[in-house]
Amino acid sequence: MNQEEFFKKITAHAKEYGFVFPSSDIYDGLSAVYDYGQNGVELKNNIRQYWWKAMVQMHENIVGVDAAIFMHPTVWKASGHVDAFNDPMIDNKDSKKRYRADVLVEDHIAKIEDKINKEVEKAKKRFGDAFDKEQFVSTNARVLGYKQEIEDISHRLYVAMENNDLAGIKQLIEDLGIVCPISGSRNWTDVRQFNLMFATQMGSLAEGANEIYLRPETAQGIFVNYLNIQKTGRMKVPFGIAQTGKAFRNEIVARQFIFRMREFEQMEMQFFVRPGTELEWFKHWKEERLRWHLSLGIPAEKYRYHDHEKLAHYANAATDIEFEFPFGFKELEGIHSRTDFDLSSHSKFSGKKLQYFDPETNESYVPYVIETSIGLDRMFLAMLSHAYTEEKLEDGSERVVMKFPAALAPYKVAILPLVKKDGLPEKAREIMEQLTPDFMCQYEEKDSIGKRYRRQDAIGTPLCVTIDNQTLEDNTVTVRDRDTMEQIRVNADELYNIIRNKIAPKRV
Ligand code: ATP
Repeated sequence: MNQEEFFKKITAHAKEYGFVFPSSDIYDGLSAVYDYGQNGVELKNNIRQYWWKAMVQMHENIVGVDAAIFMHPTVWKASGHVDAFNDPMIDNKDSKKRYRADVLVEDHIAKIEDKINKEVEKAKKRFGDAFDKEQFVSTNARVLGYKQEIEDISHRLYVAMENNDLAGIKQLIEDLGIVCPISGSRNWTDVRQFNLMFATQMGSLAEGANEIYLRPETAQGIFVNYLNIQKTGRMKVPFGIAQTGKAFRNEIVARQFIFRMREFEQMEMQFFVRPGTELEWFKHWKEERLRWHLSLGIPAEKYRYHDHEKLAHYANAATDIEFEFPFGFKELEGIHSRTDFDLSSHSKFSGKKLQYFDPETNESYVPYVIETSIGLDRMFLAMLSHAYTEEKLEDGSERVVMKFPAALAPYKVAILPLVKKDGLPEKAREIMEQLTPDFMCQYEEKDSIGKRYRRQDAIGTPLCVTIDNQTLEDNTVTVRDRDTMEQIRVNADELYNIIRNKIAPKRV
């Protein structure tokens, strides 16, 4: 199965099993907007809680906030979003399709990377066990040529983007002979800047309407509350403020399902530190955040850092944690050392002093900030694509199983009476009642036990508990493991601990 087919299967599965639906589906959807169904909302809530617990509950010096989506319009002047939250766009005159100009170039680079990968694959076959990848990619003439080509293109793109040289980006697209994937033509418009913020009006028109924006990131809601929280919470630097919530971006090209949406959710934490210590803290959070991902038990090869060479004007270090999605390694989370840019800028625009008096050094300063920012929907997609597994079983049948980390699975346990009679449903419900205050349980009595197991596999329930006649005699049940399909017989009183152990974070 190639990557495209695999991705199609995931999207279809997500819809069929109540994880993700297109928004306003009965009206044929709304581009790049999605709704989460009965299983999706559980998975999403679990990811959010897992994050909140790790960031807020497990850190004495991190507290939460829930700021409004609407904010004073000057916030976005101060943050730089009004002037600089732009993407360069370009239209193809024949297909009338719109693209992000920089993404067209990046896709072109990805094609050259594919060529390198193909050379590596070919050589691997040729040399067999003796193959040394490092040596091959650093000496093979063809690969070196491709690498040089990538470097030249990346450099030209970087310089043009840095200097806001829109004509230069267009020239690059023309020089590379990039064609529109739909029309196949090179008939491009000029490159223009496009601001990604959604604007709306607040107040009735008679009162004199005020243009405001839907927040494009949750971070600013944290910065404008810095002083309120530092004072009322008597917070001492270093400390952090965490927030989860919706953000809105009018993405030019929204594609790849929930990877790039126009309405999405972020989980962000801004960590305020003493100036001069920010790079140490940057390193700390970079490691800490990767550890969080690994604590879910997902193989480390699925993740990699991508350190930024090109830094935003406000940052002095930045890295992405990339995840291997079905369409390759892509950004899942960003960790940025944002200096004192945000607080200083808000001080300037609001006229309020956003400082910290450090009792240890007896001085006042504007704290520096380390930000960790992860897209909840992107994390959801990472989990969906990691979990989706097709398996051939010993008896020749097949199953689709969602191997979600147990802590995130929508339901932790399915309660299944073997048959719908002989007092088994009543006993099953009695056992379930003991578990529902602590765990999401699903009761199912319809169809054969095999079919019920398959349905639970398809939504990723880690444990199935079967109640049979013997349960009535000695209170024992069968517990079936989703991944190994092994079954054990235990006393129903042990279920609580078994489930707890199953969903506990892995130590890394
Ligand atoms: P990208 O380069 O993919 O556009 P970004 O660098 O603009 O992302 P940030 O502004 O750093 O992203 O946002 C932090 C996180 O929010 C990202 O790592 C990503 O997980 C998530 N995110 C950003 N834009 C979107 C979107 N349109 N849809 C879903 N998630 C998003």
